[in-house]
Amino acid sequence: MVVKGRGHQVLPDCSRPTLPGVVSERACVFYGARWMLAAVPDVIHLVHGPVGCAYYGRTVRRKSYRLLSTGLDERDIVFGAGDKLFDAIMEAAARYPEARAVLVYATCAVGLTGEDILRACKRAAGKIGRKVVPVNSPGFCGQSQAAGHDIAAAMLLEHFIGTGGKRELIDNAVNILGEFDIQGDLNEIEDLLSQLGLKVNCAFSGRASTSAMADAHRVRLNIIHCRRTGQTLADAMRERFGTPYLKVSFFGPAETTSAIKVIGKFFGVARVEEFISRANQKAESEAAPFLQQLAGKRVALFFGASRIGSMAKVFGELGMEVVMAGSQYGCRGDYQEAEAKVANGAVLIDDAHDKELAELMRKQRPHLLVGGTKEKYLAHKMGVPFLVFPQEMGPFAGFRGFVNLARQTAGLVSGPVWRLAHG
Ligand code: SF4
Repeated sequence: MVVKGRGHQVLPDCSRPTLPGVVSERACVFYGARWMLAAVPDVIHLVHGPVGCAYYGRTVRRKSYRLLSTGLDERDIVFGAGDKLFDAIMEAAARYPEARAVLVYATCAVGLTGEDILRACKRAAGKIGRKVVPVNSPGFCGQSQAAGHDIAAAMLLEHFIGTGGKRELIDNAVNILGEFDIQGDLNEIEDLLSQLGLKVNCAFSGRASTSAMADAHRVRLNIIHCRRTGQTLADAMRERFGTPYLKVSFFGPAETTSAIKVIGKFFGVARVEEFISRANQKAESEAAPFLQQLAGKRVALFFGASRIGSMAKVFGELGMEVVMAGSQYGCRGDYQEAEAKVANGAVLIDDAHDKELAELMRKQRPHLLVGGTKEKYLAHKMGVPFLVFPQEMGPFAGFRGFVNLARQTAGLVSGPVWRLAHG
């Protein structure tokens, strides 16, 4: 943890394991892989492990997905479960003939026993005539869920992305990398891009069917929206297919404006200024009453890594002071970006546990905590309003998303119930 002060930049220690015994807010590598892959629609998701892992990995970004499990027990751990996995793949493929492929997630139990998942996958693939792909994600094989994101991205690159034949470009098509389509964010982004005459081929992985991924190498531009996973995919696709990329954010009017300008420039679209100024004016006038309520209020941020910087900027645009910006598994780049967006005196923290968060809330006295569901009850017990991010109600991306964020934030901060909680 560091406190931003004057002088040279200091960043918190990051990308290191949690101390043994500390109850971390991080998730396991398997869950990181689920975070990336859960929304891939036309494949069978099969968890090779005890049923508890599947229960844990079923709900991602507050949506429940169909997830099958081999339901391993003690006997399978002792004697091996390769045949059980093979039978499960065959049964799943028969039950869901429309699925284009099977993803088999490895969990801690099979990671420890050294189960030969690849062999069972190859054998089953030969029988069913569809791809059966292992996702090598035992929970313990990395420091946090971030390793699972990387494993999932590597798997998509190896088995799905750009497998659709020759690279004949699709006119005015783009991919969005690191966009998970939360509460309509992707629709907002698509709507903005359609003003430039562009269409989205594939959004990794909020809207990533196997056929869209197969054609992903045929777009003219990759747009990185979430830096961590997006950058990995963008670098690999540039190297393999020569696809250029741009890194942007669609959160907040300032970033959205510059995103539209830079993408419009890439495609040589004229007259974007007019559209941007109209959208900005509308957002400004609709958000104005909420901004009045939020002026000068303090906000603390603690959530997944790569959006802490862009969201710190958006809360600044709401007129709020960001007094803490933390993440469960941020890397140096994430904290560098966040550091540039917060004022002196703000705390930057990596991998905080709940006691540290409680202590920081007492010290920094935010009017609002923004975080994942795990931090919600901590905030409420301390009498502090809480905004879930990724969000639960409506989009936050684009100009309309900004107004929605302003409305929700003002509603939370000025709710009369908090006066009772403090009293
Ligand atoms: S840590 Fe291991 S056992 Fe626990 S949910 Fe993750 S993969 Fe399953």
